[in-house]
Formats: sequence, C-alpha cells, structure tokens
Amino acid sequence: NNGNLQRLDQSHHLHPFTDFRDYAQHGGRIFSRAEHIYIYDSNGHKMLDGMSGLWCCNLGYSQQSIVDAVTEQMQQLPYYNNFFQCSNQPAIELAKALVDVTEDRFNHVFFTNSGSEANDTNLRLVSRYYQLQGRPEKKHIISRKNAYHGSTIAAASLGGMSGMHEQTNGLDYIHHIEQPHWFEVGPDEDPDAFGLRVARQLEDKIDELGESNVAAFIAEPVQGAGGVIIPPDSYWPEVQRICDERDILLIADEVICGFGRTGQWFGSQTYGIKPDLMTFAKAVTNGYQPLGGVMVSDKITDVLLNHGGEFSHGLTYSGHPAATAAGLATLKILRESNIIANAADNVAPHFQARLKELEAHPIVGQVRGRGMFAAVELVSDKTSREKLAPESAGAVFCRNTANNLGLMVRQTGNAMIMAPPLICNTGEIDALVDMLSQALDATAKHYGI
Ligand code: PLP
Repeated sequence: NNGNLQRLDQSHHLHPFTDFRDYAQHGGRIFSRAEHIYIYDSNGHKMLDGMSGLWCCNLGYSQQSIVDAVTEQMQQLPYYNNFFQCSNQPAIELAKALVDVTEDRFNHVFFTNSGSEANDTNLRLVSRYYQLQGRPEKKHIISRKNAYHGSTIAAASLGGMSGMHEQTNGLDYIHHIEQPHWFEVGPDEDPDAFGLRVARQLEDKIDELGESNVAAFIAEPVQGAGGVIIPPDSYWPEVQRICDERDILLIADEVICGFGRTGQWFGSQTYGIKPDLMTFAKAVTNGYQPLGGVMVSDKITDVLLNHGGEFSHGLTYSGHPAATAAGLATLKILRESNIIANAADNVAPHFQARLKELEAHPIVGQVRGRGMFAAVELVSDKTSREKLAPESAGAVFCRNTANNLGLMVRQTGNAMIMAPPLICNTGEIDALVDMLSQALDATAKHYGI
C-alpha cells in the first residue's frame, strides 16, 4: 500500500522545490502523522522535527485548541469572503489580536493565504501609497541577494537566490544589494565594520537609482531560508537610519522571524527595527491553516484612508474564517502561556550553547544563531573555509544522514539549518544536537576528514 502511494506520488504530484526527474526516479518520504515535536513517515520512521515543518509549527503538532477552533469554525461558517464590505468574526478578532501584539503604529492588517501573496500585497500597497501622493515615479524596490520572499513572480523577484532568478522573468524595478553574511562575504573584516559597509550599499543603491525613484527596502530581520544569516549588530541601526533619512519605506519580512523565533514576538523587536510594513505567515496559525498577511502602519493607512477610493486588491480567501480561527487560537496560546519567554530565556541559550560546542568539530567552520534558529556551516578546512565538497554535496550528505538517524534538519548551501519548535525542552534540544553531532561525524568520515 505504501509502495503504491509512493508510485502514485511519483507519477502525478509535482513537488515544490524538487528536482522532478530525480523524484520520479528515487521518490522520497511520505509523512503520515505527527505528535508533539515528532513526525512519522509512512514506514513508521520517527523524526525529531528540527525545522518546525517549514519554520511554521512553532508550537509543535499537538495543539488541540487550534484543531478545535478550526473544527468549530468549519461547522459554524466554513467560508465567506471579506470583499465588498463583508466580514466575519474570526477575521475581525484576529486583526485586533495582531494589532495588540505588534507595535503601536500597526493598527491595520491585510490578510492573504501565504507569505508570498503578502509580499505581493506589500508591493501593491507601496505603489498605491505613492500614487495617491502624486509620486508614482517612486517605484523601485531594493532587496538583498540570497533573500527568500516567496514564489509568486513578485516575491521571486524580491528574492535574491540566483537559481530562482534564472527561472523567473522577474520585475525590472526590483534591485538587490549584498546580504550581511559575514562568514561568506566578509570574514576578513571586523564584523561591525562589515555590517556598516554592507548596510551602506543601500545608500549607494538609492543614490544610483535616485532617491525620488526609490519606494522601499525589504528584508528579513534574520535571513532564514538563505542560511540563517545573523546580521552584525551594526547592520540594522544603519539600515534604519538610511531608510528614515532618505524617505524610503522599510518592509520587514517576518514570515520566519515572527511569533517568537528570534526570542521576542517579532524579529523587528529583537533588532530594534521600525518597519512601515510587516509581512507575516507560517507560525501565525502554527502552520495548521494557510494564512499570511501584512501589518500596515499608520503612516501608510493615513494616506490610504484619507484619500479614500477602492484598493483593488484581494484574494478569495483573504481572512478565511477557518484560517483566521486557527490564527486566533494560536495567538491565544502564545499570549496566555510563557512559551516565547521560556524559549528565549531557558531553551534558546541551551540550544545555542550546545550548538556552539560543535565549532570544535573538524568539518564545522561556523555556528551562528539567534533565539530558536541556527546554522552550522560545513567546511573541509577551517582556516581557508573551503567547502566540504563541490556544490552542496557535503551538506546534503550530512542532512540525509541526520534524517536517517531520526532528525529532520535542512540543508542550505553548505550549512545545516535548524529551527526547532519553541516548545522543545532542553533534553529534546540535547537529543537534536547529539543526532546532528553523529551526522557530522559520519560526514567527516565519509569525506576522509
Ligand atoms: N518570506 C519569507 C521570509 C519566507 O521564508 C517565506 C517562505 O519560506 C515566504 C516569504 C513565502 O511564504 P509562503 O511560502 O507562505 O508563500
């Protein structure tokens, strides 16, 4: 039966971010159930989920109150839209709850189904904001290399991964500057000097394009999918200064950083950023329902509301009752428990300290992290920082080994990436690090190091 399911999957299902030919030949893992922080494939293989799904199940897989909230909502009002002055109770209540947990200047929310659509929404909001002010030429958007902002055309254009760009007929008014990836881009520089230098590329790009033509800068507080790129402390204050002084809107993509990942509710708080727009998705429903959106600051809504007129933008499922009910139940857990504070104060320091020990391992070039996410960079030589193997083969080998040992981790470039659920205890973190350590040993052995 399992073999049959695998064959059907290989025959008919085109998977996201998957080499179709390779999958058709070799297949993969079918997941059939999950509990607490563990996922089980259809062969019964149990794995500790060191990635919280795709950075979304921050509260793990057994949150019955979210399941109940969705079930009750489906029985009460399974669907209605929010177009044309209609609304529904969970969407209204979630909007209010999000306003309550974000900073004071955020008083409005626009709901989407995903982070990608939320970033598209950002671009539409930004262009309407400037058009209403009679400044339509302010349309250029600056993003960063190696960023991931989603997979629609606009989101893929915002993203900075070269592989995605090669496959995308991208938008020509989106430009990319360097990422604050000290280990890869500037390891011979003092980290703070490097952070300032990279931040100032934003100013250079604004000068190049002309300040009156630049609308916004978008970035994740910590670049997640790009490899958990922890910015030097000097980076964000300088970016904020430039955006403020040069009249550029700042968009923080909090799709991964939001809802506790960096130690506070939002990565913007951790890094002292004051964005004008904030993208969220993923953990807003603990991953149990598809939901994303944009927190829109008063600076933007003052223009939108004062000028009036329809904002011609929306999705059939914007503010879907079942999805927003899941969001509401998730926020209730986060607000009424001490999960975010406990993760920040007790679990994350243990997680980061245990991972840091791995820097002594012969194939580990750098361990970096903040709060409940981290990356372990693999090298063949610690001094030259030479890759472990051509392309990303070393990290792929290590990831596959970890998976077989019972740890779900992800590989990005030459790094192993982890974002365990915030509900992990220190013993579970120890189990995660021990499995990763075994996988590193096996990988070193495989490459004769
Ligand atoms: N923005 C960031 C920072 C993300 O990490 C992702 C997804 O990983 C997205 C946007 C896109 O979100 P979605 O996959 O929900 O469209």
